[in-house]
Amino acid sequence: MSVVEFAEALDIVLEHARGFPARTAEQIALLDAAGRVLAEDVTADRDQPPFHRSTRDGFAVRATDFTASAQLKIVGQVRAGEAWCSDAMQPGCAIEIMTGAPMPDGADAVAMIEHVALADGNVWAAPGRTLRAGENVVPQGSEARAGEVVLAAGSVIGAAEIAMSAACGHAELMVRSRPSVTIIATGDELVELGARLGSQQIWNSNGYALAALVAVAGGRAERSKIARDTREDIRARIAEGRRSDLLLLSGGVSAGKYDLVEEALAEFGAEFFFTGVKMQPGRPVVFGRLPGLDGEQATYFFGLPGNPVSTQVTFHCFVEPLLRAMCGAEPVGPKFVQGTLAEDVSAKAGLTRVLPTILRHDLERPELRLVSWQGSGDLGANARANCYAVLPDGEALHAGDVVTVLLR
Ligand code: AMP
Ligand code: MG
Repeated sequence: MSVVEFAEALDIVLEHARGFPARTAEQIALLDAAGRVLAEDVTADRDQPPFHRSTRDGFAVRATDFTASAQLKIVGQVRAGEAWCSDAMQPGCAIEIMTGAPMPDGADAVAMIEHVALADGNVWAAPGRTLRAGENVVPQGSEARAGEVVLAAGSVIGAAEIAMSAACGHAELMVRSRPSVTIIATGDELVELGARLGSQQIWNSNGYALAALVAVAGGRAERSKIARDTREDIRARIAEGRRSDLLLLSGGVSAGKYDLVEEALAEFGAEFFFTGVKMQPGRPVVFGRLPGLDGEQATYFFGLPGNPVSTQVTFHCFVEPLLRAMCGAEPVGPKFVQGTLAEDVSAKAGLTRVLPTILRHDLERPELRLVSWQGSGDLGANARANCYAVLPDGEALHAGDVVTVLLR
């Protein structure tokens, strides 16, 4: 069995993430598309902008006419949503124009309302103001030409992509179907919400955490019945779930007497890519693949440690990149950025630590402060955090040091 370095585990997952065939495509309403992956390129339905667009309220003029010495006659007005339908504007004239309106023929720039002088139906440059041709105008087609790709297949759809699609008139999008993800929580101590809870028992919070994480990462979560800590029960749950695209088990992967998940997976002929990672929390995490049934694709699985913070950390590090790629997105690793520590952090040898942290979103000094916690069962500390500081093996760190941060 192989326990690997943190960086190696990330590489192993990414290698597998590169191997997924394209999933089937389906057409869905634009507003349902958040979090999904584009199956097709989205193209511009016409030039963007569709006309030479004024970016200011002011006066459409010929730039060369715009001086402090010559008064230009205001011959009309064009508002956003209107078009200038009269003859081309003549030299020596100006047309009042609003932001977002199409430029009248004959004008080549817009003088901002703040930069002009006005009297008796005439307009001219305020002292010291000049204008270049093209100023305050975005030319037709300069953002995109009709038919040009504005969003590439494989893009993950968020608000920016929804806005671009709407701007190009697309009320529906072709997206990849969502992979099914079966979630199996294991543990004799677990109780489902709504059932009766003995004083020695705990709620199955991981089942909910994983369902939420899967949904955000683009999967379709199916929560199975809790597996008790017996080989038979774990086997039964795996047998039910193994036709899904991805299998997530929580708990039962440590070295305890009732940690039977690996054994149960092995009985199905599992191939293991790693059976532990030198990280904290999350060390017992298992990654592998079950052989496909009836000529179907093999089913990837993760055995995630049961401690709730470990479950979530290992999801972000390993499951999320694999699941995103399964959805059809470009295979990329976890969301790592860098941040500055606000305080000293002591060293720990032999493990990469991924610790609940608050990134203070301060304009001048965004800083990282580790959350004090009771260890990897502390869901409260995890909820108070908004990211995880990734602290390298064995190095004492100091306030001001820049470290990697895992976003969630
Ligand atoms: P295990 O990985 O099974 O040894 O579990 C480690 C710790 O996580 C134990 O304290 C378990 O009670 C807890 N745990 C395991 N599964 C869950 C779950 N589904 N929800 C909440 N806590 C869990
Ligand atoms: Mg357990």
